[in-house]
Amino acid sequence: MDTAALPDTRDLAERARTALARCGVERLREPVGAAGVARTPLTGQILFPVEFDTPASAERAVTAARDTFTTAWRDTPAPVRGRLVHRLGELLREHKEDLAALVTVEAGKIHSEALGEVQEMIDICDFAVGLSRQLYGRTMPSERPGHRLMETWHPLGVVGVITAFNFPVAVWSWNTCVALVCGDTVVWKPSDTTPLTALACHGLLMRAAADVGAPAGVHHVVLGGREVGEALVEDDRVALLSATGSVAMGQAVAPKVAARMGRCLLELGGNNAAVVAPSADLDLVVRGSVFSAAGTAGQRCTTLRRLIVHEDVVEEVTDKVVDAYKQLRDRVGDPFDEETLVGPLVSERGYTAMRDALSRAEADGGEVLVGGGRRLEDEAEDAYYVEPAVVRMPAQSEVVREETFAPILYVLSYRTFEEAVELHNGVPQGLSSSIFTQDQAEAERFLSAAGSDCGIVNVNIGTSGAEIGGAFGGEKDTGGGRESGSDSWKAYMRRATNTVNYGGELPLAQGVRFL
Ligand code: NAD
Repeated sequence: MDTAALPDTRDLAERARTALARCGVERLREPVGAAGVARTPLTGQILFPVEFDTPASAERAVTAARDTFTTAWRDTPAPVRGRLVHRLGELLREHKEDLAALVTVEAGKIHSEALGEVQEMIDICDFAVGLSRQLYGRTMPSERPGHRLMETWHPLGVVGVITAFNFPVAVWSWNTCVALVCGDTVVWKPSDTTPLTALACHGLLMRAAADVGAPAGVHHVVLGGREVGEALVEDDRVALLSATGSVAMGQAVAPKVAARMGRCLLELGGNNAAVVAPSADLDLVVRGSVFSAAGTAGQRCTTLRRLIVHEDVVEEVTDKVVDAYKQLRDRVGDPFDEETLVGPLVSERGYTAMRDALSRAEADGGEVLVGGGRRLEDEAEDAYYVEPAVVRMPAQSEVVREETFAPILYVLSYRTFEEAVELHNGVPQGLSSSIFTQDQAEAERFLSAAGSDCGIVNVNIGTSGAEIGGAFGGEKDTGGGRESGSDSWKAYMRRATNTVNYGGELPLAQGVRFL
């Protein structure tokens, strides 16, 4: 593949402006206050300036969101709220290419993955519209005659959504579509790396609101870095703070939200592994692992970072994976090119982290079997294209236990199933996991309470690429939150337990007598 031509930054800026305009963002505000920039990892260059918010303007956004919540949105019937999300889904279908182009320009995702991310938004819209008629509460038998015991789910208030750079649109939609049908209003602080995709999503949602007659105040976007996010963290009118990002970010925000008795939904880093049993179908192992480990240039929270292989097949599996990675080396480059499989890292920070991790792994006795080199440096010195790396490790050392947000796959070997599970669970994070095996009992043991300790546990597929229908999230340092499908909506609502006495007598519970 010819990787010689990277796109020109001016062409990318033009492409971004066109996509923004089509999504309803006609004019970018010139930065007068907090000056921010939109940048592209494809060339590492600045596209154009964008005005960022300040903690004061973020506070004003919370005020407006709170007003809309109390005066209009919480009392709008849920199926009517669903119409807004239904319209958003239609607009996303219409503007799939526009949003995907912005995701590629700002986050560097290859085009098919960017389209997949927008498809995920469409899917969650469909899910949330159905949900708008299914916010079920239970009715329980009362122990008292003439009484009814039930629960009702009510809107929570303002939801603050803080998102990471690597899923700049899907994670917003998981939160926002569900929050909106639940009757909440939203203030979104996207990553400062991806302000344009955020403006485009907001533009489409505002158009949807106008089309269905919903109040514009249901959604606000505030651009900026940590200090703007902190304004949401510290504001006690933000009933739920849903924050996606690194473990360090979660550790900073969780105590602050807890101190004001707010709710937190945390989706933090992963250090995902696949166990490869001797009975595994090795073709599945290679295909599943290579996509999970090298897709999105290793910048997914669910990226496969550790391959734990039985000693009988470890040589064969390693050889096959290394062969596949050798082919990937020629497919690193411009993510708009259909032939490209590995786009750029989003920033120099990811590249430095990758170099450091590889040196530490080597110091721990690891052997870099393929990849690790930088590409296209001569063409774009501020862009960070890398060859995905496979490293054979003698043990699960400290560097392997950390999440390095770059495409490094560590290969470890095991002898007994118990040893595999111990290695698998022996990291601080607990997001996604899988086992490749043809042995049904072994698969069940991995899925059982004594198996994987992760929030996502798969059999015979890789660790990444979850569907929206299930609850998404992880345990331990990953933060314990659940988003997207299943009953994740409950995090966005408050539950009231109601006892109704229709009997005319007043029997007390537990047989208590009084007066
Ligand atoms: P990051 O932690 O640097 O930033 C994430 C977001 O948090 C950004 O919007 C940032 O501005 C904000 N932020 C950072 N510190 C803050 C603070 N103290 N107060 C308020 N806001 C703050 O993460 P990143 O580099 O953008 O993304 C990569 C990380 O995100 C990886 O660790 C990855 O695993 C994780 N991630 C997790 C999930 C998940 O669902 N579990 C999904 C995507 C990404």
